[in-house]
Amino acid sequence: MAKRQKQLEVSFLGGVGEIGKNMTAIQYADDIIIVDCGSTFPSFDDTPGIDLIIPDFSFIKDNIEKVKGILITHGHEDHIGGLPYLLAECGNIPIYGSALAIALIKHKLTEKKLPMPKLHVVKGGDVKRIGLFSVEFVSVTHSILGAFALSIAYGSGVVFHTGDYKIDHTPIDGECIDLARIAAIGNKGVTLMLGESTNVEKKGTTISERDVGITLERVIETNRDKRIIIATFASNVNRVQQIINICEKVGRRVAFDGRSMVKISEIAQGLDMLSCKENTLIDIEDIKSVEPDKLCIISTGSQGEPMSALTRMANGEDKDVIIGDNDVVVISSQPIPGNEKAVYTLINKLYRRDAKVLYGSLEQLHVSGHACQDELKLMLSLVKPKYFIPVHGEYRHLKKHQELALSMGFEKENTKIVDIGSRVAIGKKSIQFIDSVEAGEVYVDGFSNVDSLVLKDRKQLMTDGVVIVLLNINVADRQLISLDILTRGLMFDEEFLENIKEIVEDIFNSSSYKDENSRGGLKNSIRKKVARVILNKLKQKPMILPVLIEQVREERTEEE
Ligand SMILES: [Zn+2]
Ligand SMILES: [Zn+2]
Repeated sequence: MAKRQKQLEVSFLGGVGEIGKNMTAIQYADDIIIVDCGSTFPSFDDTPGIDLIIPDFSFIKDNIEKVKGILITHGHEDHIGGLPYLLAECGNIPIYGSALAIALIKHKLTEKKLPMPKLHVVKGGDVKRIGLFSVEFVSVTHSILGAFALSIAYGSGVVFHTGDYKIDHTPIDGECIDLARIAAIGNKGVTLMLGESTNVEKKGTTISERDVGITLERVIETNRDKRIIIATFASNVNRVQQIINICEKVGRRVAFDGRSMVKISEIAQGLDMLSCKENTLIDIEDIKSVEPDKLCIISTGSQGEPMSALTRMANGEDKDVIIGDNDVVVISSQPIPGNEKAVYTLINKLYRRDAKVLYGSLEQLHVSGHACQDELKLMLSLVKPKYFIPVHGEYRHLKKHQELALSMGFEKENTKIVDIGSRVAIGKKSIQFIDSVEAGEVYVDGFSNVDSLVLKDRKQLMTDGVVIVLLNINVADRQLISLDILTRGLMFDEEFLENIKEIVEDIFNSSSYKDENSRGGLKNSIRKKVARVILNKLKQKPMILPVLIEQVREERTEEE
C-alpha cells in the first residue's frame, strides 16, 4: 500500500462568512484537533422561535475516532456555546482552555446535566502535546479574561490561530498580549495563519479597556445624587472589576442583577479574577436597605435581550428594581449588528420611565475587544505566515482582511477566502482547496433540532397565516358529510369563505376520490386551487392544509 502523503488539512465548520459559531478542524495524518465550538444567537426575523444556532457536526461525527482534543481560545459564546451539543452527539472529547473558559464550560455542562469530559486548564505559555500536534497557548488581550492565540505545530509546519484579540497595552488585570512570544513564533516560521477579522473596517487601533473606566468614573461622579444602573456583558470581568473599583472609591455598594451576571461574577470571584472589599457586594433582594445614591446595580441586558434583567426593569416587571427619575442607566456596550432595534426599544422604554439613559453613541462607554486595522497589520507582520486565511468575519470582513494582507506584500495565491464547509490542504509548496466537507447550521429549539423546512413553515405561518380545509367524508357512499374552513392570521369575509367552500366541493365531486391512492391527488388539487383563489383575491400566500376525515356511516334505520 502506498504510504499516505502527510499533509495538513483545515476544515472550516463555522465562523467564516458570519460572525458567530466559530469552529475549525485541523487534521494532520490521522489526527484531528478542533479549535473552538461556538454558537450564534438567532434573529427572530430569520429564524423564528429558534433558541440557538450551532454548527453541523457531521464531519466530526464521521471522523470521531481521529479527534484528539478541543482547543478553546476563550470563553465567549461564539467559541464555546456549541460544546454541550457536540459532546452530547459525539461523546467525551478532552477540552483545553483557560481557567475562566473551563469554568464557564463546566457550568454549561452541569446545567445541561452532561457528563464531564477531561478538562485541561492551561495558562499562557503552556505547551501541550495533543496527538501529533504540539500546541502552545499564547496570551492575548480581549473583552474576556483568559484569551489565547494558538501556535499549533505539526510535522514540519506551524498553524498560528490568533483567536479573538486586541492589542491592549494597559489591560485591567495587567496581563498584556504576549507580543514578544508571537514575534518569536513568527521568526521561527509559521506556515499558515488564521486571523480574526471582526474590526477590519475600522482604522487605527482599538481603545484600551481602561478608557471606559475613566468615562464610567466621570458618569458616576457627575450623578452623585442618583442611583446608577450599568448594563454590560457578564463575561467582561474586567469591565465589572472597573465598576467595582470606582464604586469602592466613591462609597457605593454594588448589586448584580441578571442570571448570567450573578453566575459569571461568582465564577470569576472563585478564580480570584474579580475582587472586592468585604462590604461592597449586596444581594439584589436587599437593595432597599441602601440609599439609592449609595448603590450601583450591574446588570445584564445591554443587548436588549428579551429575558434579561434590564429588559425586565424597562418593562416594569422586575421585582427588585423599579426604574424612575432618580435613576441613571448606563448601557456599557455597543449593539451587536442585528440587535440595534431591540436596544433602541429598550432605551425608549427606559426614557418613558423617566430615567436618564447614557449609551454608546453619546459617550465612550464601551470599547471593542477586537483588533482594528493597525493591530491586524502588526499581527501579520509579526507572525509573517507563508499562507494566510482570514476568519471570524462576514464575507466583506474576510475580503477586506485579505486586501489588507495584499497591501502588505502578501501574494494573492498564498491567501484564501473560505466558506463554511471549505477544506484547505497545505502541502510542501502549495495551499489549495480540496473537496468540501458537510457543514452548515443546525437550529436548536428547546430540546430538539429543527431543520430548514420547519423554519420555512414557521415563516409562512408568521407572515401569511394558515387555512385548514376540513373534509368530513362518508367512506360508505363517498359523499361529503360536511366541509369546514378554519383560518388563522387572515381576514376572510363570509362570502369569500362560502366561495372557497363551493370550489372545494366542486373539486371533491369531480375528483376520482375512491381509494387511498387518490387521496394525495385530491389534497393537492385543493391546495393548489385554494391557494390560487386566495392569492388572486387577497394577495396572500397562506399555508393551505387540506384534512380528510373519513368515516363509515351506514344508512340509518327508521326506528332510530
Ligand atoms: Zn470573543
Ligand atoms: Zn468571537
